[in-house]
Amino acid sequence: MSSDALQTRIAERLAAVRQRLATAAERSGRTSGAVRLIAVSKTFGADAVRAAYAAGQLDFGENRVQEALGKRAELADLPIRWHLIGPLQSNKARKVPGAFAWVHTLDRLDLLERLEAASPATPHTPLPLLLQVDLAREASKSGADESALRPLLDRARACQTVQVVGLMLVPPYEADPERVRPWFARLRGLRDALRAEGVPPSQLQQLSMGMSHDFEVAIEEGATMVRVGSAIFGARD
Ligand SMILES: *Cc1c(COP(=O)(O)O)cnc(C)c1O
Repeated sequence: MSSDALQTRIAERLAAVRQRLATAAERSGRTSGAVRLIAVSKTFGADAVRAAYAAGQLDFGENRVQEALGKRAELADLPIRWHLIGPLQSNKARKVPGAFAWVHTLDRLDLLERLEAASPATPHTPLPLLLQVDLAREASKSGADESALRPLLDRARACQTVQVVGLMLVPPYEADPERVRPWFARLRGLRDALRAEGVPPSQLQQLSMGMSHDFEVAIEEGATMVRVGSAIFGARD
C-alpha cells in the first residue's frame, strides 16, 4: 500500500472509532474527553503509527517491550505516549521507565518493586500503573487475583517513583460483546468496593477495559481507557 493510501485508510478508521467512542460516552453520561483512546499498534510497523499520529492520535499501546522499543526508536521525533498493555517479565522492568508513559499490566509485588527501583525520582511525575485483575481466573492469562489487590494497593502507597492509578481487565473472549458486559460491570463493582473499603480514589481513577469488538460496551460500563487495535489498523496476521 502506498503511504498516502495507508494514511487515508487509518485516518478514516480512526475517525469512525472516535465517533463510536463519543456516542458510547454520551450514552454513559460522559463526554468523549472522559475516555482515552489507546491505539494498539502491536505487529504493525512504524509507518502505521506515524499515519495514526498524523490523524491526531497520541496514545499507542504495545504488548511486547522489545517490539515497542524498536518502534519508539524509529519514531523518536514524535511526542507519542506509549502504553505497555502486555505481560511484563521481571527482568525487563528496568527497560520500562523512560520508554513507556503508562503500564497497564502490573500484577505482582516483585514487579511493583522493580518498577519502583528502576524509575527515576525527580523531576519526573511518578510512572502511572494499572493493576491487571484476573477476574475469570483463567490459567492462560496474567493478572492478579482479586485477593492480591489490597496488599498491592497498600504497598504502592509507599512508592515515590511509581503510582497505581486504576484497574485493567482482559476478559474472557466472547464474540458477542453483550456477553462481555458482566465482566466489565464486575471490574467497575470491584473498583467501587475498594473505594468503599477506604482505598484512596487516587489509586482507582482509571478503568482500562474494552477492545475493538467490545469497547462501546466497556465505555457504557465505565471504562476510562479503551485499547483498540484492529478497528484502527486492520486485522493482524
Ligand atoms: C491486542 C490487544 C488489544 C487490542 O485488541 P483488538 O481486538 O485488536 O482491538 C487490547 N488489549 C490488549 C491487552 C491486547 O493485547
